[in-house]
Formats: sequence, structure tokens, C-alpha cells
Amino acid sequence: MVHRSVAMPRFLALPCAHDPSKILSNQNYVFRRWKSGSLNEKGDTMSIYAGRCWVVLFATAVLGIGGCGSSVSTGDVRDALSNGKAQVLSIVCTTGQVGDLVIHLGGEHVRVETLMGPGVDPHLYRGTLGDTQKLNRADAVFYNGLHLEGRLAEALENLASRKPTFAVTEEIVAQSPQLLRKPPEFDGNYDPHVWFDVALWTRCAETVTRKLVELDSAHAEDYRRRSAAYIARLNKLHDWCKTSIAAIPSDRRLLITAHDAFGYFGRAYDIEVHGLQGISTADEADLASVNELVDLLVSRQVKAVFVESSVPPKTIQSLIQGCAARGHTVVEGGELFSDAMGLAGTQEAEYIGMVEHNVNTIVKALK
Ligand code: ZN
Repeated sequence: MVHRSVAMPRFLALPCAHDPSKILSNQNYVFRRWKSGSLNEKGDTMSIYAGRCWVVLFATAVLGIGGCGSSVSTGDVRDALSNGKAQVLSIVCTTGQVGDLVIHLGGEHVRVETLMGPGVDPHLYRGTLGDTQKLNRADAVFYNGLHLEGRLAEALENLASRKPTFAVTEEIVAQSPQLLRKPPEFDGNYDPHVWFDVALWTRCAETVTRKLVELDSAHAEDYRRRSAAYIARLNKLHDWCKTSIAAIPSDRRLLITAHDAFGYFGRAYDIEVHGLQGISTADEADLASVNELVDLLVSRQVKAVFVESSVPPKTIQSLIQGCAARGHTVVEGGELFSDAMGLAGTQEAEYIGMVEHNVNTIVKALK
């Protein structure tokens, strides 16, 4: 079926003498091939090499890694804050979910800029020159990790050598890797979509709290107080998700989306999940996958399938049409927010609101 790796191939930063224009066109090709699942280990040596070169270009040209910028340690940031040279921590985050977490835990002591806005797919995101300035200005950087930020992953790991840079998932990897999904079709990589299990996101909140306390110990009590209050909200949310999903009759508890981001959600809240097409938005769904899911929808008499804010709805239309041809009516159950959050000012612009929206949408359509 239909799950494919969501973690990018791990390009190594190697020296490169290729023509940059070829590299930039090649990296699109490599990524399309990888997304479609057709990138193999034997036949794509040059393309993989071009991908490696792109990472080096990005790291040096965009993030300035390997350049002559001065290093800033956690201690330097702490000293600047305690000397009164800095008023608040200036933090850059990659995804909306990570930015939301740091805002809630940091409160008035942080100023957060998020690189990836509503509707932006982190797997596809490329750094911009504007990002360079933001990252260079930041006191610290937080990102999801587990190669969610496919194109930026290597660069962020390198950035950690000269600036406090943290993956919010790093303590789970180090201390409790058994909590992470490692589906065989992910080629040995962890599934990065940890925010779909609120209990796992709570672990990320604990990590962020520890890092904020390290950076700005003068406000440690504020961070711990905020953390306790926010984690209490997350615990309530986790229980509410369980209760809500359990209200769907078990034979209809089947979540079908275009993109396979919901593995942790399915595991945490006891709902079977299937993605129609890996993470690809460019490729057509193959007929075998569509037929397999249509069989499932018809045999289980499932009422709805779901679109995501970052994936064109046509990928899901093929399922609706396939079921109609078999005499079974399936509707579009609504839009879910998966890897990107909602527009500013909406409920879905915050993590808790996004989870509530997703669960309410799923329950309403499937119950
Ligand atoms: Zn994803």
C-alpha cells in the first residue's frame, strides 16, 4: 500500500565541483524521484551526488555554515541575557508546530520567528536568503528533526556547531527511541510526524522547556510554570482525543488521507490510517493503490475520506469516484491540517486548536 518514507535520503555533505545550475535543476529531479518512490540505491549515483552538492551549496550560501561567522554558545546567550545586553531570547523555528510550542513555553521572554507558514510542506521547503538573516540574527534555533525538514536537515545539524540549535525530538531519540515509529517502508528512518500523538508532543514540550531554562536561567521559574500549565492542557487534549475517536464505531474507524502523516495519530487514538500517496503531490496515485483503498472503503462501508491543506483534493477524488462506480457513496469529510498549521487568527493557527479541528472533523464525518 501506500506508505512511503517521509524522511529524506540522508545526503552527506561532500565537496563538490559541479555546475550549480545543474545541481539546482537536478535536486528537483532527485526530490521528485524520491517522493515517487522511484529513487533506488543502485541507479541514481549522480542524482544523489547532485543532491549532496545542493546541501553543501545551501549550507554555505544560504545558512553561511562553514563560513567565517562567529560561534555563539548556550553560555554566551545566557551571559548576554544576564548582563542585560539582551532583553528577550530571539528564537527561529522551522515549522508552525515547533514555533507554537516555543511561543507557549517561552511567553514574554521569547520573540519567535517561524520559517514555514500556513500551507507550507516542510518536506519540500527550501531555505531562502531571508531565512539566512533570520537564522544569523537568532539567539537559538528550534526545529522538529527526524528529517521532517528534509532539505534543511543537514544544514540545521551543522548550524548546531556554531549556535544553540535543538531538535525538539532529540531527547525522545536519545532516551526513548522505542516510542518512535520506524515503519519498514521508511527505510530505517523514524516517522517524523510526532505532533500527531499529543503525548509525544508533551515530551517535546519538556525538551523545549529544558533548553529555554539552559539558555535563560534567570527566568527558569517562569518557563517551568508555563510548561506545567501547558502540559496540563496537552494532557487534557490527549484524553479528549482518545474519548472522541473512540466514539466512532470501531468498524468505521478508518482514516484515509492523501498523505501518510497520521501514523502516530492512528497508534495513539486507535484508528486505522492509510495514506493514498506517500507525500507526493506531483505524481498521480497508482491504480493499484486506489483500487486497494476503494475495496477497503466499500467493504467497511466507510462514509468519508479527507483532504489535507497542503495536498490537492484531486488525489482524494479518485477514491470518491472509485467508490461511486461500485455503488458506495463516500464524501469528502473535510480538510485536515497535517504538516502545516492554519492561517493566523484562526483556531488552527495554534497546535491545540489544530488538533481539536482535526479530531472534530474526523469524528463528524465518520461517526
Ligand atoms: Zn509529512
